[in-house]
Amino acid sequence: MAFLAACVAMLQVGDFPQVSQASASSPAESETSTLLRAQAPFGMAPERAITVHHTMLIPFGRRSISVPILMYHYIRPVPSANRDWMGYRLSVSPANFHEQMDWLATNGYHAVDFNDLRAYFAGSRVLPDKPVVITLDDGYIDLYTTAYPTLRSYNFKAVAYIVTSFVGESRYVTADQVVQMDRDGIQIASHTLNHADLARTSPYWVTYQLATSKVWLERLVGHPVVDFAYPSGKFNSQVVYALQTTGYDTAVTEMPGTVHSRDDRYTWTRVRVGGGESMADFAVRLGSEESPLVLTTINTGPGD
Ligand SMILES: [Zn+2]
Repeated sequence: MAFLAACVAMLQVGDFPQVSQASASSPAESETSTLLRAQAPFGMAPERAITVHHTMLIPFGRRSISVPILMYHYIRPVPSANRDWMGYRLSVSPANFHEQMDWLATNGYHAVDFNDLRAYFAGSRVLPDKPVVITLDDGYIDLYTTAYPTLRSYNFKAVAYIVTSFVGESRYVTADQVVQMDRDGIQIASHTLNHADLARTSPYWVTYQLATSKVWLERLVGHPVVDFAYPSGKFNSQVVYALQTTGYDTAVTEMPGTVHSRDDRYTWTRVRVGGGESMADFAVRLGSEESPLVLTTINTGPGD
C-alpha cells in the first residue's frame, strides 16, 4: 500500500513539465536513476517505466562557495630533491597526476573553469556538485604532452597560465599547442610576459606586463582572456589595481584555501599539489564539500 502511495506521488510530480526541464538543464554527469516498473496500478499502460533522477548541483545565491583550485606546475618524472629542490617541489609525476585525476573522477568531482565560476556568481549558470578547478602554471611542454591528454581522457576542463614570452622556447608549449588546447577544454589564462615578480616591479611595468600578455593571448586564441595568476604568488594592492584597470576579472595566488567569493576574486587561494602526498592527504586538501541541492525529477515513459 505504501508503495502504491509513493507511485501516485511520483506520477503527480512527473506531470509537471517544468520539473523535466530543470533536469535537462542540470549537470548530467551527476544524475543517478532508478527504474521502477508499475504493473498498471492506476490506469497506466502495463510495463510503463518510471525513471527517477537525482541531480546534485550547487544552487544559485551563495555568496561564497567551497571550490578547491588545484595548483600544478610540472607533470614529469620528479627530479632528486638534493640536486634540484625547486624542481622537486614543483613536479608531480605523470603516474601520480593520473592517479589524482582518477580519484577525482571516481569520487564524483566535476572539473570546472573560471568561465563556469563567473557564470555561477553572475547568477546565469548553476555549478555541478563537488566542483574543482585544475590549474597548471607556466606553460611547460609537459602541460601539452602529459597533463592535457590525461585531462582529456577524463573529460576534465582545466586552466593553463601561460608566460607569453616563453611560448615556443625549448621547454615550453608552442603557440599552436596553446590554440589547440584552448579549443579543447583548457582555458588559457595569463601569467605575465616573463614571470616577473610584480610586487617588486614599478607600476608602469606591472601594467605593461599585464596588458601585453593579455593582448598577445587574445590575438592568439581569438577571444577575451581575463584570468591571471601572480608569478610565484607575489602581489600587492597596486598590482590588484592594475589588474582591474587592464581588464582582468580574476587572479589566483599561492596562498592556501578552498572557499571563494566574487568579492575576493583578485586574491583567490589555491591548493598546492606536491605529488608526494598520499591519496588520503590529497583528499583532505580539497577542503570541505559544498553542500549540494538534490533535485529529484520523475519521468514516465514506455518500458524497454
Ligand atoms: Zn609561475
